[in-house]
Amino acid sequence: MDFSAELIAWYTHNKRDLPWRNTTDAYIIWLSEIILQQTRVEQGMPYFYRFAEKYPTVTAFAAAHEDEILRLWQGLGYYSRGRNMLKTAQLVQEQYKGIFPVSYNELIKLKGIGEYTAAAISSFSSNEAKAVVDGNVYRVLARYFGIDEAINSPKGKKMFQKIADDVLDNARPALHNQAIMEFGAMLCKPKNPACGICPVHINCVAFKTNATSYLPVKLKTIKIRKRHFNYMLISDGKKILMNKRNEGDIWANMYDLPLIETPELTDPIELLQLPQMKVFGNDVALKDNSAVIKHVLTHQHLYVRFLMLKDFPEKLQGNWFYTDVENLKDLALPKPIFIFIKYFFNF
Ligand code: SF4
Repeated sequence: MDFSAELIAWYTHNKRDLPWRNTTDAYIIWLSEIILQQTRVEQGMPYFYRFAEKYPTVTAFAAAHEDEILRLWQGLGYYSRGRNMLKTAQLVQEQYKGIFPVSYNELIKLKGIGEYTAAAISSFSSNEAKAVVDGNVYRVLARYFGIDEAINSPKGKKMFQKIADDVLDNARPALHNQAIMEFGAMLCKPKNPACGICPVHINCVAFKTNATSYLPVKLKTIKIRKRHFNYMLISDGKKILMNKRNEGDIWANMYDLPLIETPELTDPIELLQLPQMKVFGNDVALKDNSAVIKHVLTHQHLYVRFLMLKDFPEKLQGNWFYTDVENLKDLALPKPIFIFIKYFFNF
């Protein structure tokens, strides 16, 4: 048996029964693919069910309000995915009359759909012979063929796509793609791959040369930005002052509290003296403050502190607005804000 046939045989007996595997509906496959990007299956599954139930068709999705999408997305992170999905659904509704495209060349034109997602949707929905290359596939190919070219270098990307295309079973592309991804997720795992029970270990270069822990190679290019968020919690217990975030930064169009961002960690008492605090009044007094909470995003580390102020500002700034505390459940809140507010108001 060749490499692909071995993986398909393994997959047939060992695959997990995941809901999006039992359909060729391109819309449902798209939904699952976007939800599962950068997300573990167990974490993404409830979100998939939630979205598929609320919006069973792309037409229903396209008619949703952005606030509703962000609210359902809450806790999943990478919120731009939810916003892009809405734009894509609206475009599919307008340009394709609500019929989700199934060909790679049409899919790749849509917002939020890159090479991997276009290959996944086209192969799973219409059996188009396009090889998927995601993190699992990079790992399997790098180890099996013993390739130490960095998977995130332009040269490496081309090289791995070429190998993925070469090993693709053109007669069974959907099955092949599912098999190689599942194999990477379940057997050829990042840490402690199950080489002892691996059906292709005899020809695996990494296994033979004891190099599984060195492959795949990835260049470290990400520079982490540290940010210090000081949130003002202004509430009489019934109403709370909120802010709708602008586009162009993390958590775009979601809801948080009035924010003072400082270049470094600043003591709450010092913070009260900053000129930016004038927007809260001339003589701002502090009731209490939280500890600093670290919140990790892919390219940013946020150090978040909440300050409970005694007084209400005279004038509302920018996107500030008051809302009833009981309405907070209906707003899309970034995770650290949601956790703190939930704890603070005990809901
Ligand atoms: S032998 Fe180990 S490293 Fe090689 S493909 Fe199998 S699980 Fe992956």
